Amino acid sequence: MSQPRPDSPLAAKVFPSPNHGERATGVRPDMIVLHYTGMPTGAEALGRLCNPVAEVSCHYFVWEDGGILQLVPEARRAWHAGLSSWAGESDLNSRSIGIEIVNPGHEGGSPPFPAVQIDAVADLCAEISGRLGIRPERVLAHSDIAPARKRDPGEFFPWDVLHARGVGHFVPAARIAGGRFFARGDEGQPVQALQAMFALYGYGIAVTGVYDEATEQVVRAFQRHFRREQVDGVADASTITTLRDLIATRPSLKPPLAV
Ligand SMILES: [Zn+2]
Repeated sequence: MSQPRPDSPLAAKVFPSPNHGERATGVRPDMIVLHYTGMPTGAEALGRLCNPVAEVSCHYFVWEDGGILQLVPEARRAWHAGLSSWAGESDLNSRSIGIEIVNPGHEGGSPPFPAVQIDAVADLCAEISGRLGIRPERVLAHSDIAPARKRDPGEFFPWDVLHARGVGHFVPAARIAGGRFFARGDEGQPVQALQAMFALYGYGIAVTGVYDEATEQVVRAFQRHFRREQVDGVADASTITTLRDLIATRPSLKPPLAV
């Protein structure tokens, strides 16, 4: 029996996982979530993503050499996001395409992603985004949507390279310098304003005015994606300026082009 053709022409073939379900009624995928596999080898990760007992999966799987498999049809809800939140939505498995990138992750020593693998991820994201109409600022890290639980794909993932290929929303991180900063235990209106900025960009954060553990986790997640040089959970001037620049340049917030 022949397998169905992949949804993306960039996938070499379908390698079916049984782990999927129906997307929520009327919901079409409008975001891409990137992961690292976080296991010693790609083969082990692939086995887990296809094991019904594990109850995890993704739509696409990208090997170190850039080869791409499709595990779950795009029309189906894959199980990769888990408990997560972005822009006020929580059933992100229903709204997303999940891509697992073979890399052993932080626990495996954070080895660099090979350039050929990143090329494949960029091409795949660009192809899916073009075909499904996914906006750049909705190509996100697992850590962005689950900051309390997840670190992938990690601060060693080259978001700047993806952006140079037209994928994702990104600005150069503001230079790290001295000056005022906010950290765990701080309270007050400036902390509340900072939390509101993170929420405006999409992070799931309560605007309480208290720089608590959850706030620190969001700041770390933000830094892993957008200020990768230093991931410390401290909202320094560089972090805040980078966030402000992102909000100011977010494509969906730009006024429509004059015709
Ligand atoms: Zn993940």
